[in-house]
Amino acid sequence: MSTTSTQSGSKAKLPPRVTESLVNRLTAMVTAGTAGEAREPFEMTEVYTGDVVGYLPQSSPEDVKAAAEIARAAQREWAARPLADRLAVFERAHELILSEIETLADLIQIGCGKARRMAIEEACDTPMVIAHYLKTAKKTLKPKKRSGPMPVITTSTEEHRPKGVVAVIAPWNFPFAISMSDSTPALIAGNGVIMKPDNKTALCTLYGIELLHKAGLPRGLVQVVCGGGPDVGPTLIDSVDFVMFTGSTATGRTIGEQAGRNLIGCSLELGGKNPMIVLDDVNLDEAIPSAIFAVFGNTGQACMHIERIYVHERIYDEYLRRFAAAAEELGKTLGASYDFEPEMGSLVSVDHMKRVAAHVDEAREKGATVVTGGKPRPDIGPAFFEPTVLTGVTKDMAHATQETFGPVVTIYKYSGVDEAVALANDTDYGLNASIWTGNIERATALAERLEAGAININDGFVTSYAAKGTPSGGVKQSGVGTRHGAAGLLKYTDTINVGVQKKQIMAARASMPYEKQLKSTLLTLRLMRRLHLG
Ligand code: NAD
Repeated sequence: MSTTSTQSGSKAKLPPRVTESLVNRLTAMVTAGTAGEAREPFEMTEVYTGDVVGYLPQSSPEDVKAAAEIARAAQREWAARPLADRLAVFERAHELILSEIETLADLIQIGCGKARRMAIEEACDTPMVIAHYLKTAKKTLKPKKRSGPMPVITTSTEEHRPKGVVAVIAPWNFPFAISMSDSTPALIAGNGVIMKPDNKTALCTLYGIELLHKAGLPRGLVQVVCGGGPDVGPTLIDSVDFVMFTGSTATGRTIGEQAGRNLIGCSLELGGKNPMIVLDDVNLDEAIPSAIFAVFGNTGQACMHIERIYVHERIYDEYLRRFAAAAEELGKTLGASYDFEPEMGSLVSVDHMKRVAAHVDEAREKGATVVTGGKPRPDIGPAFFEPTVLTGVTKDMAHATQETFGPVVTIYKYSGVDEAVALANDTDYGLNASIWTGNIERATALAERLEAGAININDGFVTSYAAKGTPSGGVKQSGVGTRHGAAGLLKYTDTINVGVQKKQIMAARASMPYEKQLKSTLLTLRLMRRLHLG
């Protein structure tokens, strides 16, 4: 264990790879103090202990403007490079991230408190996204020649040009994966990026950018600004050409409003209140462990994780008994360590733990049953909370409709599939839904009736999220736009339509009366339709 130097508070004993000089080098990458006057830095703490890790500079609106100017200048040179050169940087970055996975996991854990296996899985997301775009970007970004309104005589070419500078605003729950994986296609498309990580979890993002620099990314092209969202957000959105935001629905609405006023595009990946429907033909030996991960993975702090499980009445009792027993077993593995021992880690902060506890306490007070869990675990660390299973939750309880975003789930009973569909869809959100059954055809038919941007059959959320070739995003109040796939790259470009007329035949001919021209136009349109032209 190494000890970082601090200005105040207890010094955190961190994994040996995370030295004081590493923390200082990373925090020095934040664009801050450009106008001379430095703001009070943010005190970063280790979630497991609350001990101080280091001090993160905070950016002022002037710093954000300065960052945008630097990124804009670097972007012109970057966009002028052949795509193959830009991809070569990411080919190297892919390997660098994999070779540095342990340090990345350390930094993710320090800021988030999640279990190590989740930190490793998170760090693997970015190489997966890189690999996908290394394979597909050339084809997706290649200009596409299409026929024009008059075959042969005219053509139209679809071109994709980088938007310019993109803001990538990331939350704390997957701080490395979201900031780096969303920046990857933006950079490959030829944009500059200004990243705004959450203060608590900025170190892993900064380390990722250092790896991109090692891979050959020009310095200046990616800028990092840090600070309270409402403090740096408005200037950031005023300084860029596109916003990629991941976070809560409330903040997404604010960001979407400002982007709309500025007439720039935005992609908003927001919250969820995700249901799982368990049909009566399910294999419980497979369904229970998978559901346990879908609910409690990342300590329940995943936008796509499951907070509502609807189980057919025929198997409800057995499902509840076995699920609760498995949750109780999981609770025994809670731990604060940088090895693979604990299966579940901490919540991100004491404040967030209190919010999760408040949802459980309110449900209990209003009559819900806490089948297992339901309590903080200060004996392990300041923000630990037990895996919790509730029943008897009703709509007057916050946990019934709001995102709890912690290791808490309610198990409900249903008697018919129509009822299950109605209950699953009874939410303003539409991020993810899961169906469990022994019959894929039944599930596919059911999936068509669910209102969610991702639907996972016989899985909680990983299958759809890890399919990097398929665009993925929320519907209803869970988002606007998608990430991954061709759409996840093209959103960072402007589509330009270049039309060419090789011979002047479309303009009206002065010598011909208009009635005659009309007849000839209608004839041409009918002919083109018959010949499937146009
Ligand atoms: P949040 O909305 O509070 O903050 C997200 C980011 O936005 C942070 O970096 C924050 O500093 C910044 N921010 C806040 N106000 C801002 C403003 N006015 N302008 C610009 N930036 C601002 O969300 P959070 O609590 O950090 O994250 C948890 C939420 O994120 C949950 O609702 C979760 O479901 C959602 N989430 C969604 C996805 C997805 O892909 N759909 C993925 C992960 C998390």
